[in-house]
Amino acid sequence: MKITFLGTGTSQGIPIIGSDHPVCLSKNPKDKRLRVSVLIQWDNYSYVIDCGPDFRQQMLRADVKSIDGILFTHEHADHTAGLDDIRPFFFRQGDIPIYAHKRVVDQLKQRFAYIFETENKYPGAPNLEVNLVKNQPFKLENLEVIPIEVYHHKLQVFGYRFNNFAYLTDVKTIPDAELEKLKNLDVLVINALREQPHISHLNLEEALQIVSILQPKKTYFTHISHLLGFHDEVEKNLPENVFLAYDQLQITI
Ligand SMILES: [Zn+2]
Repeated sequence: MKITFLGTGTSQGIPIIGSDHPVCLSKNPKDKRLRVSVLIQWDNYSYVIDCGPDFRQQMLRADVKSIDGILFTHEHADHTAGLDDIRPFFFRQGDIPIYAHKRVVDQLKQRFAYIFETENKYPGAPNLEVNLVKNQPFKLENLEVIPIEVYHHKLQVFGYRFNNFAYLTDVKTIPDAELEKLKNLDVLVINALREQPHISHLNLEEALQIVSILQPKKTYFTHISHLLGFHDEVEKNLPENVFLAYDQLQITI
């Protein structure tokens, strides 16, 4: 399985528009972060998790020619706002499967009503094949996916486990029963926003606590704010086998 980090930034991305914060002005490509998303590829399949406002640029940058579906973590705009840009895939491939909690689908129906229109639908609008995700394992092609239910302040969010890889973003708390599902991981990807506490995101210290509980072989932090600091400096101080993800990083599991 190959994982490509399409974006590793928090909701505003890095650089933030108009910001003269040193991290936003950094020339290091690892300090430039699009909105958070990953591409997961195995056999001949390609799935993305989330479809934020940078989706088009991410698909071009990673040279993605086709996608087999999109899994959504939750409905916030930095994870969903790019949905209209599935059109090139829809025109070539037909209906694009999405996988999401019912609440997320209901939110998408409000924001992208024209996509879900059943009568007199505008001919250029894309079509989705909607698959509702509950907190129980489901099949993606030949792979079992285990949803992990976590909380982003009070909002329910799904993380996903594929074999010994798990992707969790926009987490503040993980119920004990869900932590159990995250044992024996080769790779954990989890959000670490910044050093200061935040109401709906793990900060660096809290994310490191989760790592010490779960003991995955390797961990990559994502959904990173400019306030966390320069990539190279932060990573120097991380424990062994814990890394900051960066855009376009690829890992094979
Ligand atoms: Zn987010």
